[in-house]
Amino acid sequence: MAGILYLCATPIGNLEDMTFRVIRTLREADLIAAEDTRNSIKLLNHFDIHTPMTSYHEFNRYDKGRELVELLLAGKNIALITDAGTPGISDPGEELVRLAQAAGITVTSLPGACAAVTALTLSGLPTRRFCFEAFLPTDRKERARVLEELCRETRTIILYEAPHRLVKTLHELEQTLGGSRRLTVLRELTKKHETVFRTTLSAAAEYYQEQAPRGECVIVLEGTDAGAQKAQEQERWSRMPLAEHLEHYMAQGMTQKDAMKAAAADRGVSKRDIYAQWLAEKDTEQ
Ligand code: SAM
Repeated sequence: MAGILYLCATPIGNLEDMTFRVIRTLREADLIAAEDTRNSIKLLNHFDIHTPMTSYHEFNRYDKGRELVELLLAGKNIALITDAGTPGISDPGEELVRLAQAAGITVTSLPGACAAVTALTLSGLPTRRFCFEAFLPTDRKERARVLEELCRETRTIILYEAPHRLVKTLHELEQTLGGSRRLTVLRELTKKHETVFRTTLSAAAEYYQEQAPRGECVIVLEGTDAGAQKAQEQERWSRMPLAEHLEHYMAQGMTQKDAMKAAAADRGVSKRDIYAQWLAEKDTEQ
């Protein structure tokens, strides 16, 4: 019989957030795969867990992943832990789950701490609809593309960031999303010096420019107001002369009638209004 892969969530700063089930599973597993064994040994010692440990991280995830799947197929039960939080969320756990499932191994997840969810619930921003962007890409083009996408995002946005990159990221977000966008910066979650800073992008960028941020942090941003965004777009179109607006569509092969329909939708007015405006503009031309 093949073994089971257990994804074990561990605390993100407060040891009391370890669950009974995770402690028992870590004790009973044949092997613990840990992102950083030197880091995890402290956790295991604290909970008196003496299961053998091996490393599984970003840089050995392919070879080691295959090795772990072989062991699982041979009947060993493996518990996966990462540096902190829930394995698979912004760490190499995702890859091992895919490999194991492809090999027909049973994978199960033991819930516990996760910085993203902890931050969201504390942010004071809407929690009903949210998106998790993890770390913004480091590649410049890809980063610009994601930032552009975030401009239109109406859901609450959760981002992970390292303290030494926080100021740069806040400045970029300020430039793309606007300084008045509300956000909450959450640092040192679950720890003694946990801070929840509810502010705006421009104030946060200014504050952390002066005050070097320390400790791990999560940025939670309010989504854009879809209604206000639509109104802004309609206003932009309305400022364009109607003839130019119609030409924009007719150049794409639309008939004048269809172009009028499209222009009416863009401006948020009726087709009749567009027709009346078109006649009026024609009159003034003559
Ligand atoms: N798997 C983890 C989880 O479930 O949250 C996330 C791992 S990711 C490599 C590390 C990032 O999580 C950090 O850079 C930071 O953005 C966030 N993070 C982790 N612990 C945190 C804490 N105690 N306070 C604030 N952010 C934290």
